[in-house]
Amino acid sequence: MEATTTTAILDALPDPVLMVDDGPRIIAANQAAMELLGPQILDRSLALVLRHPEILETVDNVMSGSGRERARITLRGAVPRSFDVQVAGLPSKTADPARVVLVLHDITAAESADRMRADFVANVSHELRSPLSSLVGFIETLQGAAREDAAARDRFLDIMSGEANRMARLIDDLLSLSKVETNEHVAPENRLDIVGLLKEVVNTLANRSRESGVAVELDAAEPLPAVIGDRDELVEVFHNLIDNAVKYGGDDSIVHVVAREVDRIPDLGGPGVLVSVEDQGDGIAAEHLPRLTERFYRADKGRSRSMGGTGLGLAIVKHIVNRHRGRLAIDSTVGEGSVFTVYLRSRANGAEKPSSS
Ligand code: ADP
Repeated sequence: MEATTTTAILDALPDPVLMVDDGPRIIAANQAAMELLGPQILDRSLALVLRHPEILETVDNVMSGSGRERARITLRGAVPRSFDVQVAGLPSKTADPARVVLVLHDITAAESADRMRADFVANVSHELRSPLSSLVGFIETLQGAAREDAAARDRFLDIMSGEANRMARLIDDLLSLSKVETNEHVAPENRLDIVGLLKEVVNTLANRSRESGVAVELDAAEPLPAVIGDRDELVEVFHNLIDNAVKYGGDDSIVHVVAREVDRIPDLGGPGVLVSVEDQGDGIAAEHLPRLTERFYRADKGRSRSMGGTGLGLAIVKHIVNRHRGRLAIDSTVGEGSVFTVYLRSRANGAEKPSSS
């Protein structure tokens, strides 16, 4: 193969590739390697470019005949990145001074996904364990000290029923989340009447909101265009948002649900409809806003638990909105209230670029 063809092939590879001589000194590098390590790496000592004793040791081993080895390194920088480095020996009996080739494969995302999975399992176990411990405790009390105490029995059974419901809600939310995540790469295609859907959700929540003296008011600028969406999933989105606004909005307040047509969805482009859910609660401090849609993230832990929250509602909302290639915006002012706005497309492929998750 011609040298120029080899260079073109190496430059087309997404992973950084380096070739080193006996030095070991870098004698060739592809485009990705220059982008990662800088344009001036040619002719420089490998030890100075990759300051990792582990790499030099691995290169030494390969040069002394071990064939092929790998090493794991982390490159520091504004954002540290981890690489799995494959080091392979090249035939040494030719005139070519290249002795070893190094291929750096970026494993930062895979490592972070592994960490997130481990954290998630730990969180789920913890969230399930607390109601379960409480149930076990009450069962023991009912089998012993409270066996003959009718009043205590009723009180404990009420608490137990609450804890069992909490576990059931958590499991429902986990299943919902997993279902949406599985389908997230397939955008929905049905067209639906968003105002009809909002009226349905508001009616379903009306009883609960009346109990706490909260009024939910729907203000839709009809006629609105049909939106592209999955009915059940959008019911879940607005159920979660309005339910939160009622829960955190404070007694005797008003929750406004506003629906309007928009010419262009911010950041994404394309025409659509915005639905905002506004409450008059305590609001959310700015430092919590970027993390609010993470699983189990709660701005106010005690309050969320006492309200029976699972900490998964907004994570589900975010994933459903992403699946719809829509956008979720959260604005809040402490002491005044919060506004959760969902933008949905009214035309398939209306968005210019997909939302990042
Ligand atoms: P939860 O089940 O705890 O309500 P969510 O995922 O729905 O979980 O919400 C995450 C957190 O965001 C909540 O614990 C709460 O601290 C905060 N939050 C959500 N909606 C509101 C709101 N309308 N007003 C104030 N805080 C809110």
